[in-house]
Amino acid sequence: MSTKILGVTKKFGSTTAISSIEAEMKEGEFIAILGPSGCGKTTLLRLLAGFESPSEGHIEMNNEQVASPTHLTPPDKRNIGMVFQSFALWPHLTVKEQVRFPLQHHKFVPKELKADKEARIKEVLEMVNLCGYEDRMPHELSGGQKQRVALARAIAAKPTLLLMDEPLSSLDAELRLEMRNEIQKIHRLTQTTVIYVTHDQGEALAMADRIIVMKDGAIEQIGKPETVYRFPQTEFVASFVGKANLVHGFWKNGEFHPNGSEMVAWDKKDISPYFMKKNIMPVRPEELSLSKKGNGISGYVENVQFQGKDLHYTVQVGEEKWTIHSPADEFFHPGDQVIISLTEKRWSAYQGGQKLIFS
Ligand code: ATP
Repeated sequence: MSTKILGVTKKFGSTTAISSIEAEMKEGEFIAILGPSGCGKTTLLRLLAGFESPSEGHIEMNNEQVASPTHLTPPDKRNIGMVFQSFALWPHLTVKEQVRFPLQHHKFVPKELKADKEARIKEVLEMVNLCGYEDRMPHELSGGQKQRVALARAIAAKPTLLLMDEPLSSLDAELRLEMRNEIQKIHRLTQTTVIYVTHDQGEALAMADRIIVMKDGAIEQIGKPETVYRFPQTEFVASFVGKANLVHGFWKNGEFHPNGSEMVAWDKKDISPYFMKKNIMPVRPEELSLSKKGNGISGYVENVQFQGKDLHYTVQVGEEKWTIHSPADEFFHPGDQVIISLTEKRWSAYQGGQKLIFS
């Protein structure tokens, strides 16, 4: 379902939860709303679901107005499915009954699904790999299985919009990775528009077609994962998505000189005009490497964490602390003086000889 959010502000008393939000979601897109706690993600999702009405602005779905300060189409009159962090399964219904419920009560169930509900239940339970669990009660399921039931229930009636609020937050790390794949698979199979709220940049980068990055109730940047990662438009996006170091310096003859290291010049072609103007270069931890000597910027190792393939260093560079992920073939210790240089990865925005398209 195509969705437009037009100048939407939501206030709760004197708190402005979100402010002047403008965004458009195309039919079939997977959109992640990404931001830290309290930035307004859930409020935006609740507005899209129809649980709240905007204080200003309006929302359109398939070119029809569904919410404004004076009008609200309630959730049951929107063709949506929802998945929550807490699973929200009914404790007294079996897996099969949970999935049957929307097929009986949803107002938009396509005729063919209504005619053969049992076939649809079987189909969606297959999609989420839960065949054989039809007669289990929620308390007989693991966390991951509960979330699969919640997913199956949300897609059973073929909603045109699927809203997910931190659906993987209560699962352990390994299961979260597995469920990312499941959700991607379901999106591919159903082609439903998905709006997925998360504070986990990894989830947003891995699954979304486009990411809306929010901070303090406003949108900081909207773009494809590669664009948001490679070309952050603000300091917040640079550090929240991919944990970039914000290296301060100055530009001379098209080259960037980090402060206090006038002899070091970093070439940088694709930097956003915003950072050019502010004399900041966002540099990812994996774009920097450490050595004992050579050309580069001098710093002191403050801390090191072994991470298998990489070592994660915190390095004091003048007044700044940088995070550097360096290959584990050379080990430095806290207190060591090191030379920092830009790695080749900086220039690896190419794939198969073709420059990636960023927009
Ligand atoms: P989290 O990731 O912690 O769930 P969030 O990004 O989803 O955070 P929201 O829940 O949308 O953030 O909250 C945004 C702001 O609006 C917060 O400051 C919150 O305290 C406030 N807020 C949200 N709902 C209400 C409410 N019903 N009444 C008053 N203030 C609210």
